[in-house]
Amino acid sequence: MKKDTKHIAVLGAGESGIGAAILAKKHGLNVLVSDNQQIRGSYKKELNQNSISHEELHHTEPTIMEADEIVKSPGIPDDIPLLKNAASNGIPVISEVEFASRYTNAVTIGITGSNGKTTTALLTHQILKNAGLNAGLAGNIGKSFARQVAEENNAYYVLEISSFQLDGAYAFKPDVAVLLNITPDHLNRYGGDFRKYTESKFRLIQNLSKNEYFIYCADDDIVQEGVEKRTIKAHTFPFSVENTGMETGGYLENEVLHFKTPADNFTIPVTETALHGKHNMYNILAAGLASKLMDVDNAKIRESLSVFEGVEHRLETVASVDGRVFINDSKATNIISVWYALESMSNPVVWIAGGQDKGNDYSIVRDLVKEKVTAIICIGTDNSKIREYFAEMKPVYETGAMKDAVHKAYKIANTGDTVLLSPACASFDLFDNYEDRGTQFKYYVKLLADEK
Ligand code: ADP
Repeated sequence: MKKDTKHIAVLGAGESGIGAAILAKKHGLNVLVSDNQQIRGSYKKELNQNSISHEELHHTEPTIMEADEIVKSPGIPDDIPLLKNAASNGIPVISEVEFASRYTNAVTIGITGSNGKTTTALLTHQILKNAGLNAGLAGNIGKSFARQVAEENNAYYVLEISSFQLDGAYAFKPDVAVLLNITPDHLNRYGGDFRKYTESKFRLIQNLSKNEYFIYCADDDIVQEGVEKRTIKAHTFPFSVENTGMETGGYLENEVLHFKTPADNFTIPVTETALHGKHNMYNILAAGLASKLMDVDNAKIRESLSVFEGVEHRLETVASVDGRVFINDSKATNIISVWYALESMSNPVVWIAGGQDKGNDYSIVRDLVKEKVTAIICIGTDNSKIREYFAEMKPVYETGAMKDAVHKAYKIANTGDTVLLSPACASFDLFDNYEDRGTQFKYYVKLLADEK
């Protein structure tokens, strides 16, 4: 059958799928959106308003196999039978970032890593906006990239990019690529193979030429190793808090952050920045370098760094109740995030942890727990792994609801202690998601504060 119009099948009707469908329609492509779950009412309305064909609660495989290309939502694993069939029929499967990037000439800053993506993307975006640039923010935050390309006219995009988006990226080439770190996460989607996950992260730079910039963390062994074994044509900007002296890049020396580009050497004392913790020094170095490469004025960068206090659910100070400071780090869903959270604590910590374990190796935080934690409060349906690992070291208490966890923590903590919710686990056993978990934590802490 001869097709006059290119046929696109969009699998998954979430924010990225709807955005891709709207963009495809705008460019005259023939689109089918297919989701094997129910499509959210507001999205269905949009599809109808845009006269986009869609189906829910099933995939009509023969129709999908007629597509010239499939745009797959990041949540759908690559190995479902439908996609295996697509592959054997030679139908390319791409991600929404790949698709959207075809339709824009905007300057893109693509940020990936296992941890810190959202924080770095938001900070970079804030700096660009504050400098008066017409910049969109997309990725896992807010409106999808494809939707913004269809509906807005941004000159810049700051993109938070997951490994799942990168798996379906082929020609995508950010103007500035940022690689924050690579630690084991999501291995269930990579057949337990850390090497595959690492390769996926490096797809961010696969098309970079000498006209683009690559900012990466030189303190991360996996990143550094990956950089060394590749021939990278882009201008490289390593950043580090352990070493100084790179020709171009960022570093920390005597509590001063340095940003070195060919054009300038900008510095700011750590005390003038609003974010705290070693991990955030990395995020600041990355965001600052990206902004310098966009020619943002030093005064504007300084201003933004001094006011950006962080993102909800990421080491967010909630309240002080009778001298006990409660911190919400609900987004810490893996053990490395917890390491950074504990590392940044200066007072004794009552640590609230637990949930759905994703294969944590608790030995990573063993020394920090020994040194800084006074007690552990578990919040999960199965807390056995945490209890077994730490019971000999510290008192471990079990709770099954956030209210109990907050009250128990208050009782155990002394004045001057910090109560840290940094779960190291996914939230789905007791909560809708990590936001729900963090919001409940904040709610019960605030109630407690009102009672006292
Ligand atoms: P992501 O979007 O990659 O999940 P976030 O910015 O949402 O990252 O941060 C998630 C958690 O990871 C936070 O709770 C924080 O404690 C930790 N974190 C943030 N930045 C870094 C970093 N550069 N390195 C390691 N851990 C980090």
